[in-house]
Amino acid sequence: MLLDAFAGLDPETRLLGGTVRAFAREVVAPGAVARDEEERFDRSLVARMADLGLLAGPFPEEVGGAGLSSLAWTVVLEEVAAADMALAVTLAVHVLHQNPVVRWGTEEQRARWLPALQAGAALGAFALTEPEAGSNAAAIRTRAQRVGPVDTPTAYRLTGTKVWISNAPDAERYLVFATLDPARGPAAITAFLVEKGTPGFRFGAHERKMGIRSCPAAELVFDGAEVPAANRLGGEGEGYRVALSALGDGRIGIAAACTGLARSALEQAAAYLGERRAYGAPIAELQGLRFMIAEMAREVAAARALTRAAAATRDRGAGGAEVSTAASLAKWTASDAAMRVATDAVQLFGGTGYARETGIERLMRDAKGAQIYEGTNQVHRGIVADAILGRARG
Ligand SMILES: Cc1cc2nc3c(=O)[nH]c(=O)nc-3n(C[C@H](O)[C@H](O)[C@H](O)COP(=O)(O)OP(=O)(O)OC[C@H]3O[C@@H](n4cnc5c(N)ncnc54)[C@H](O)[C@@H]3O)c2cc1C
Repeated sequence: MLLDAFAGLDPETRLLGGTVRAFAREVVAPGAVARDEEERFDRSLVARMADLGLLAGPFPEEVGGAGLSSLAWTVVLEEVAAADMALAVTLAVHVLHQNPVVRWGTEEQRARWLPALQAGAALGAFALTEPEAGSNAAAIRTRAQRVGPVDTPTAYRLTGTKVWISNAPDAERYLVFATLDPARGPAAITAFLVEKGTPGFRFGAHERKMGIRSCPAAELVFDGAEVPAANRLGGEGEGYRVALSALGDGRIGIAAACTGLARSALEQAAAYLGERRAYGAPIAELQGLRFMIAEMAREVAAARALTRAAAATRDRGAGGAEVSTAASLAKWTASDAAMRVATDAVQLFGGTGYARETGIERLMRDAKGAQIYEGTNQVHRGIVADAILGRARG
């Protein structure tokens, strides 16, 4: 094992990592290339992750979670992504959906909403992005109109379109962000728990992606879909904070997944260099390639270090700007590392790396998206600059 991912972990986390690694290698990895090729989401893998208790891994036991630390959760996502980044994104988004329910939900909402997600009977999705609002999420236009008295609405009617929603249309549960008044920016954004099958809610186009092709993604179309007031998560106007609070954790998870992808690319390339011969010797003897491997190892180590440093901020109870800055540094570093290491792996494999059936070029395609979703890496530069320059965001 290169750059031992388990070095320095406590025995319990090491055991967990070993269990997830065995699952990832034996169950997830074998079909990953075919699932990507066929753009096929395998729901049975979600059931297998439920059996391992992974679907609510990072949430407290009091709410039905596995009570894993943020650090332990990064170990889980690194292992799943080392086998299949697309499945790691499905898992990360499923957890991103639950995160605000755990943090912001009433006791009644948690009891009603979480068990099916924890058991894998329902899959979750997080619906923020719109055709005209990606990085500038505060500009969303999906409208939420009160039904009934202004002060005590009985329901909200949602109208608008969401794009790029991972896990759709397979997910049964959607956390949807909508605005009571587009003119009021973030102050009017409100979060809603929406079930598949709600009248007035349907799926639009399937997103045809470059990578993570076995993680589904689709448009959501709301045409006056009525959502009971009991499904409003947090208060009116609290939705933007609901979204940001979950995205801090989500970005640490994506950083962990990127570390796993990069590690997998490094390990496969290093093994190939030992096997592949040219000029009468393994190509591992060529100094130019040895330097590439060393640089790839440096990228993996840096990605993991910043990811675990960000997880440590959460585990010691930090919040606000400290977590969001650490999460941005980790996600930006790890996704750039994944992109560079995967690109170099294709180069080191030569023509073999370019062939679809080997799965090496898949790593490069899968890495690219991570520089874009959960905040583009330009947006993360902005968050870090704000923190350094004293305009830290909460
Ligand atoms: C594979 C994939 C899965 C996704 N899954 C989900 C999901 O489950 N749920 C969801 O809600 N969304 C999801 N998204 C959407 C994703 O969050 C957005 O694509 C992302 O936030 C960027 O928004 P955009 O595509 O509108 O690009 P834009 O915001 O239009 O950005 C265009 C360019 O401008 C740059 N830019 C924008 N703002 C700034 C700034 N302030 N400073 C410097 N540069 C800037 C960007 O970095 C980018 O290079 C997913 C996207 C992808 C690709």
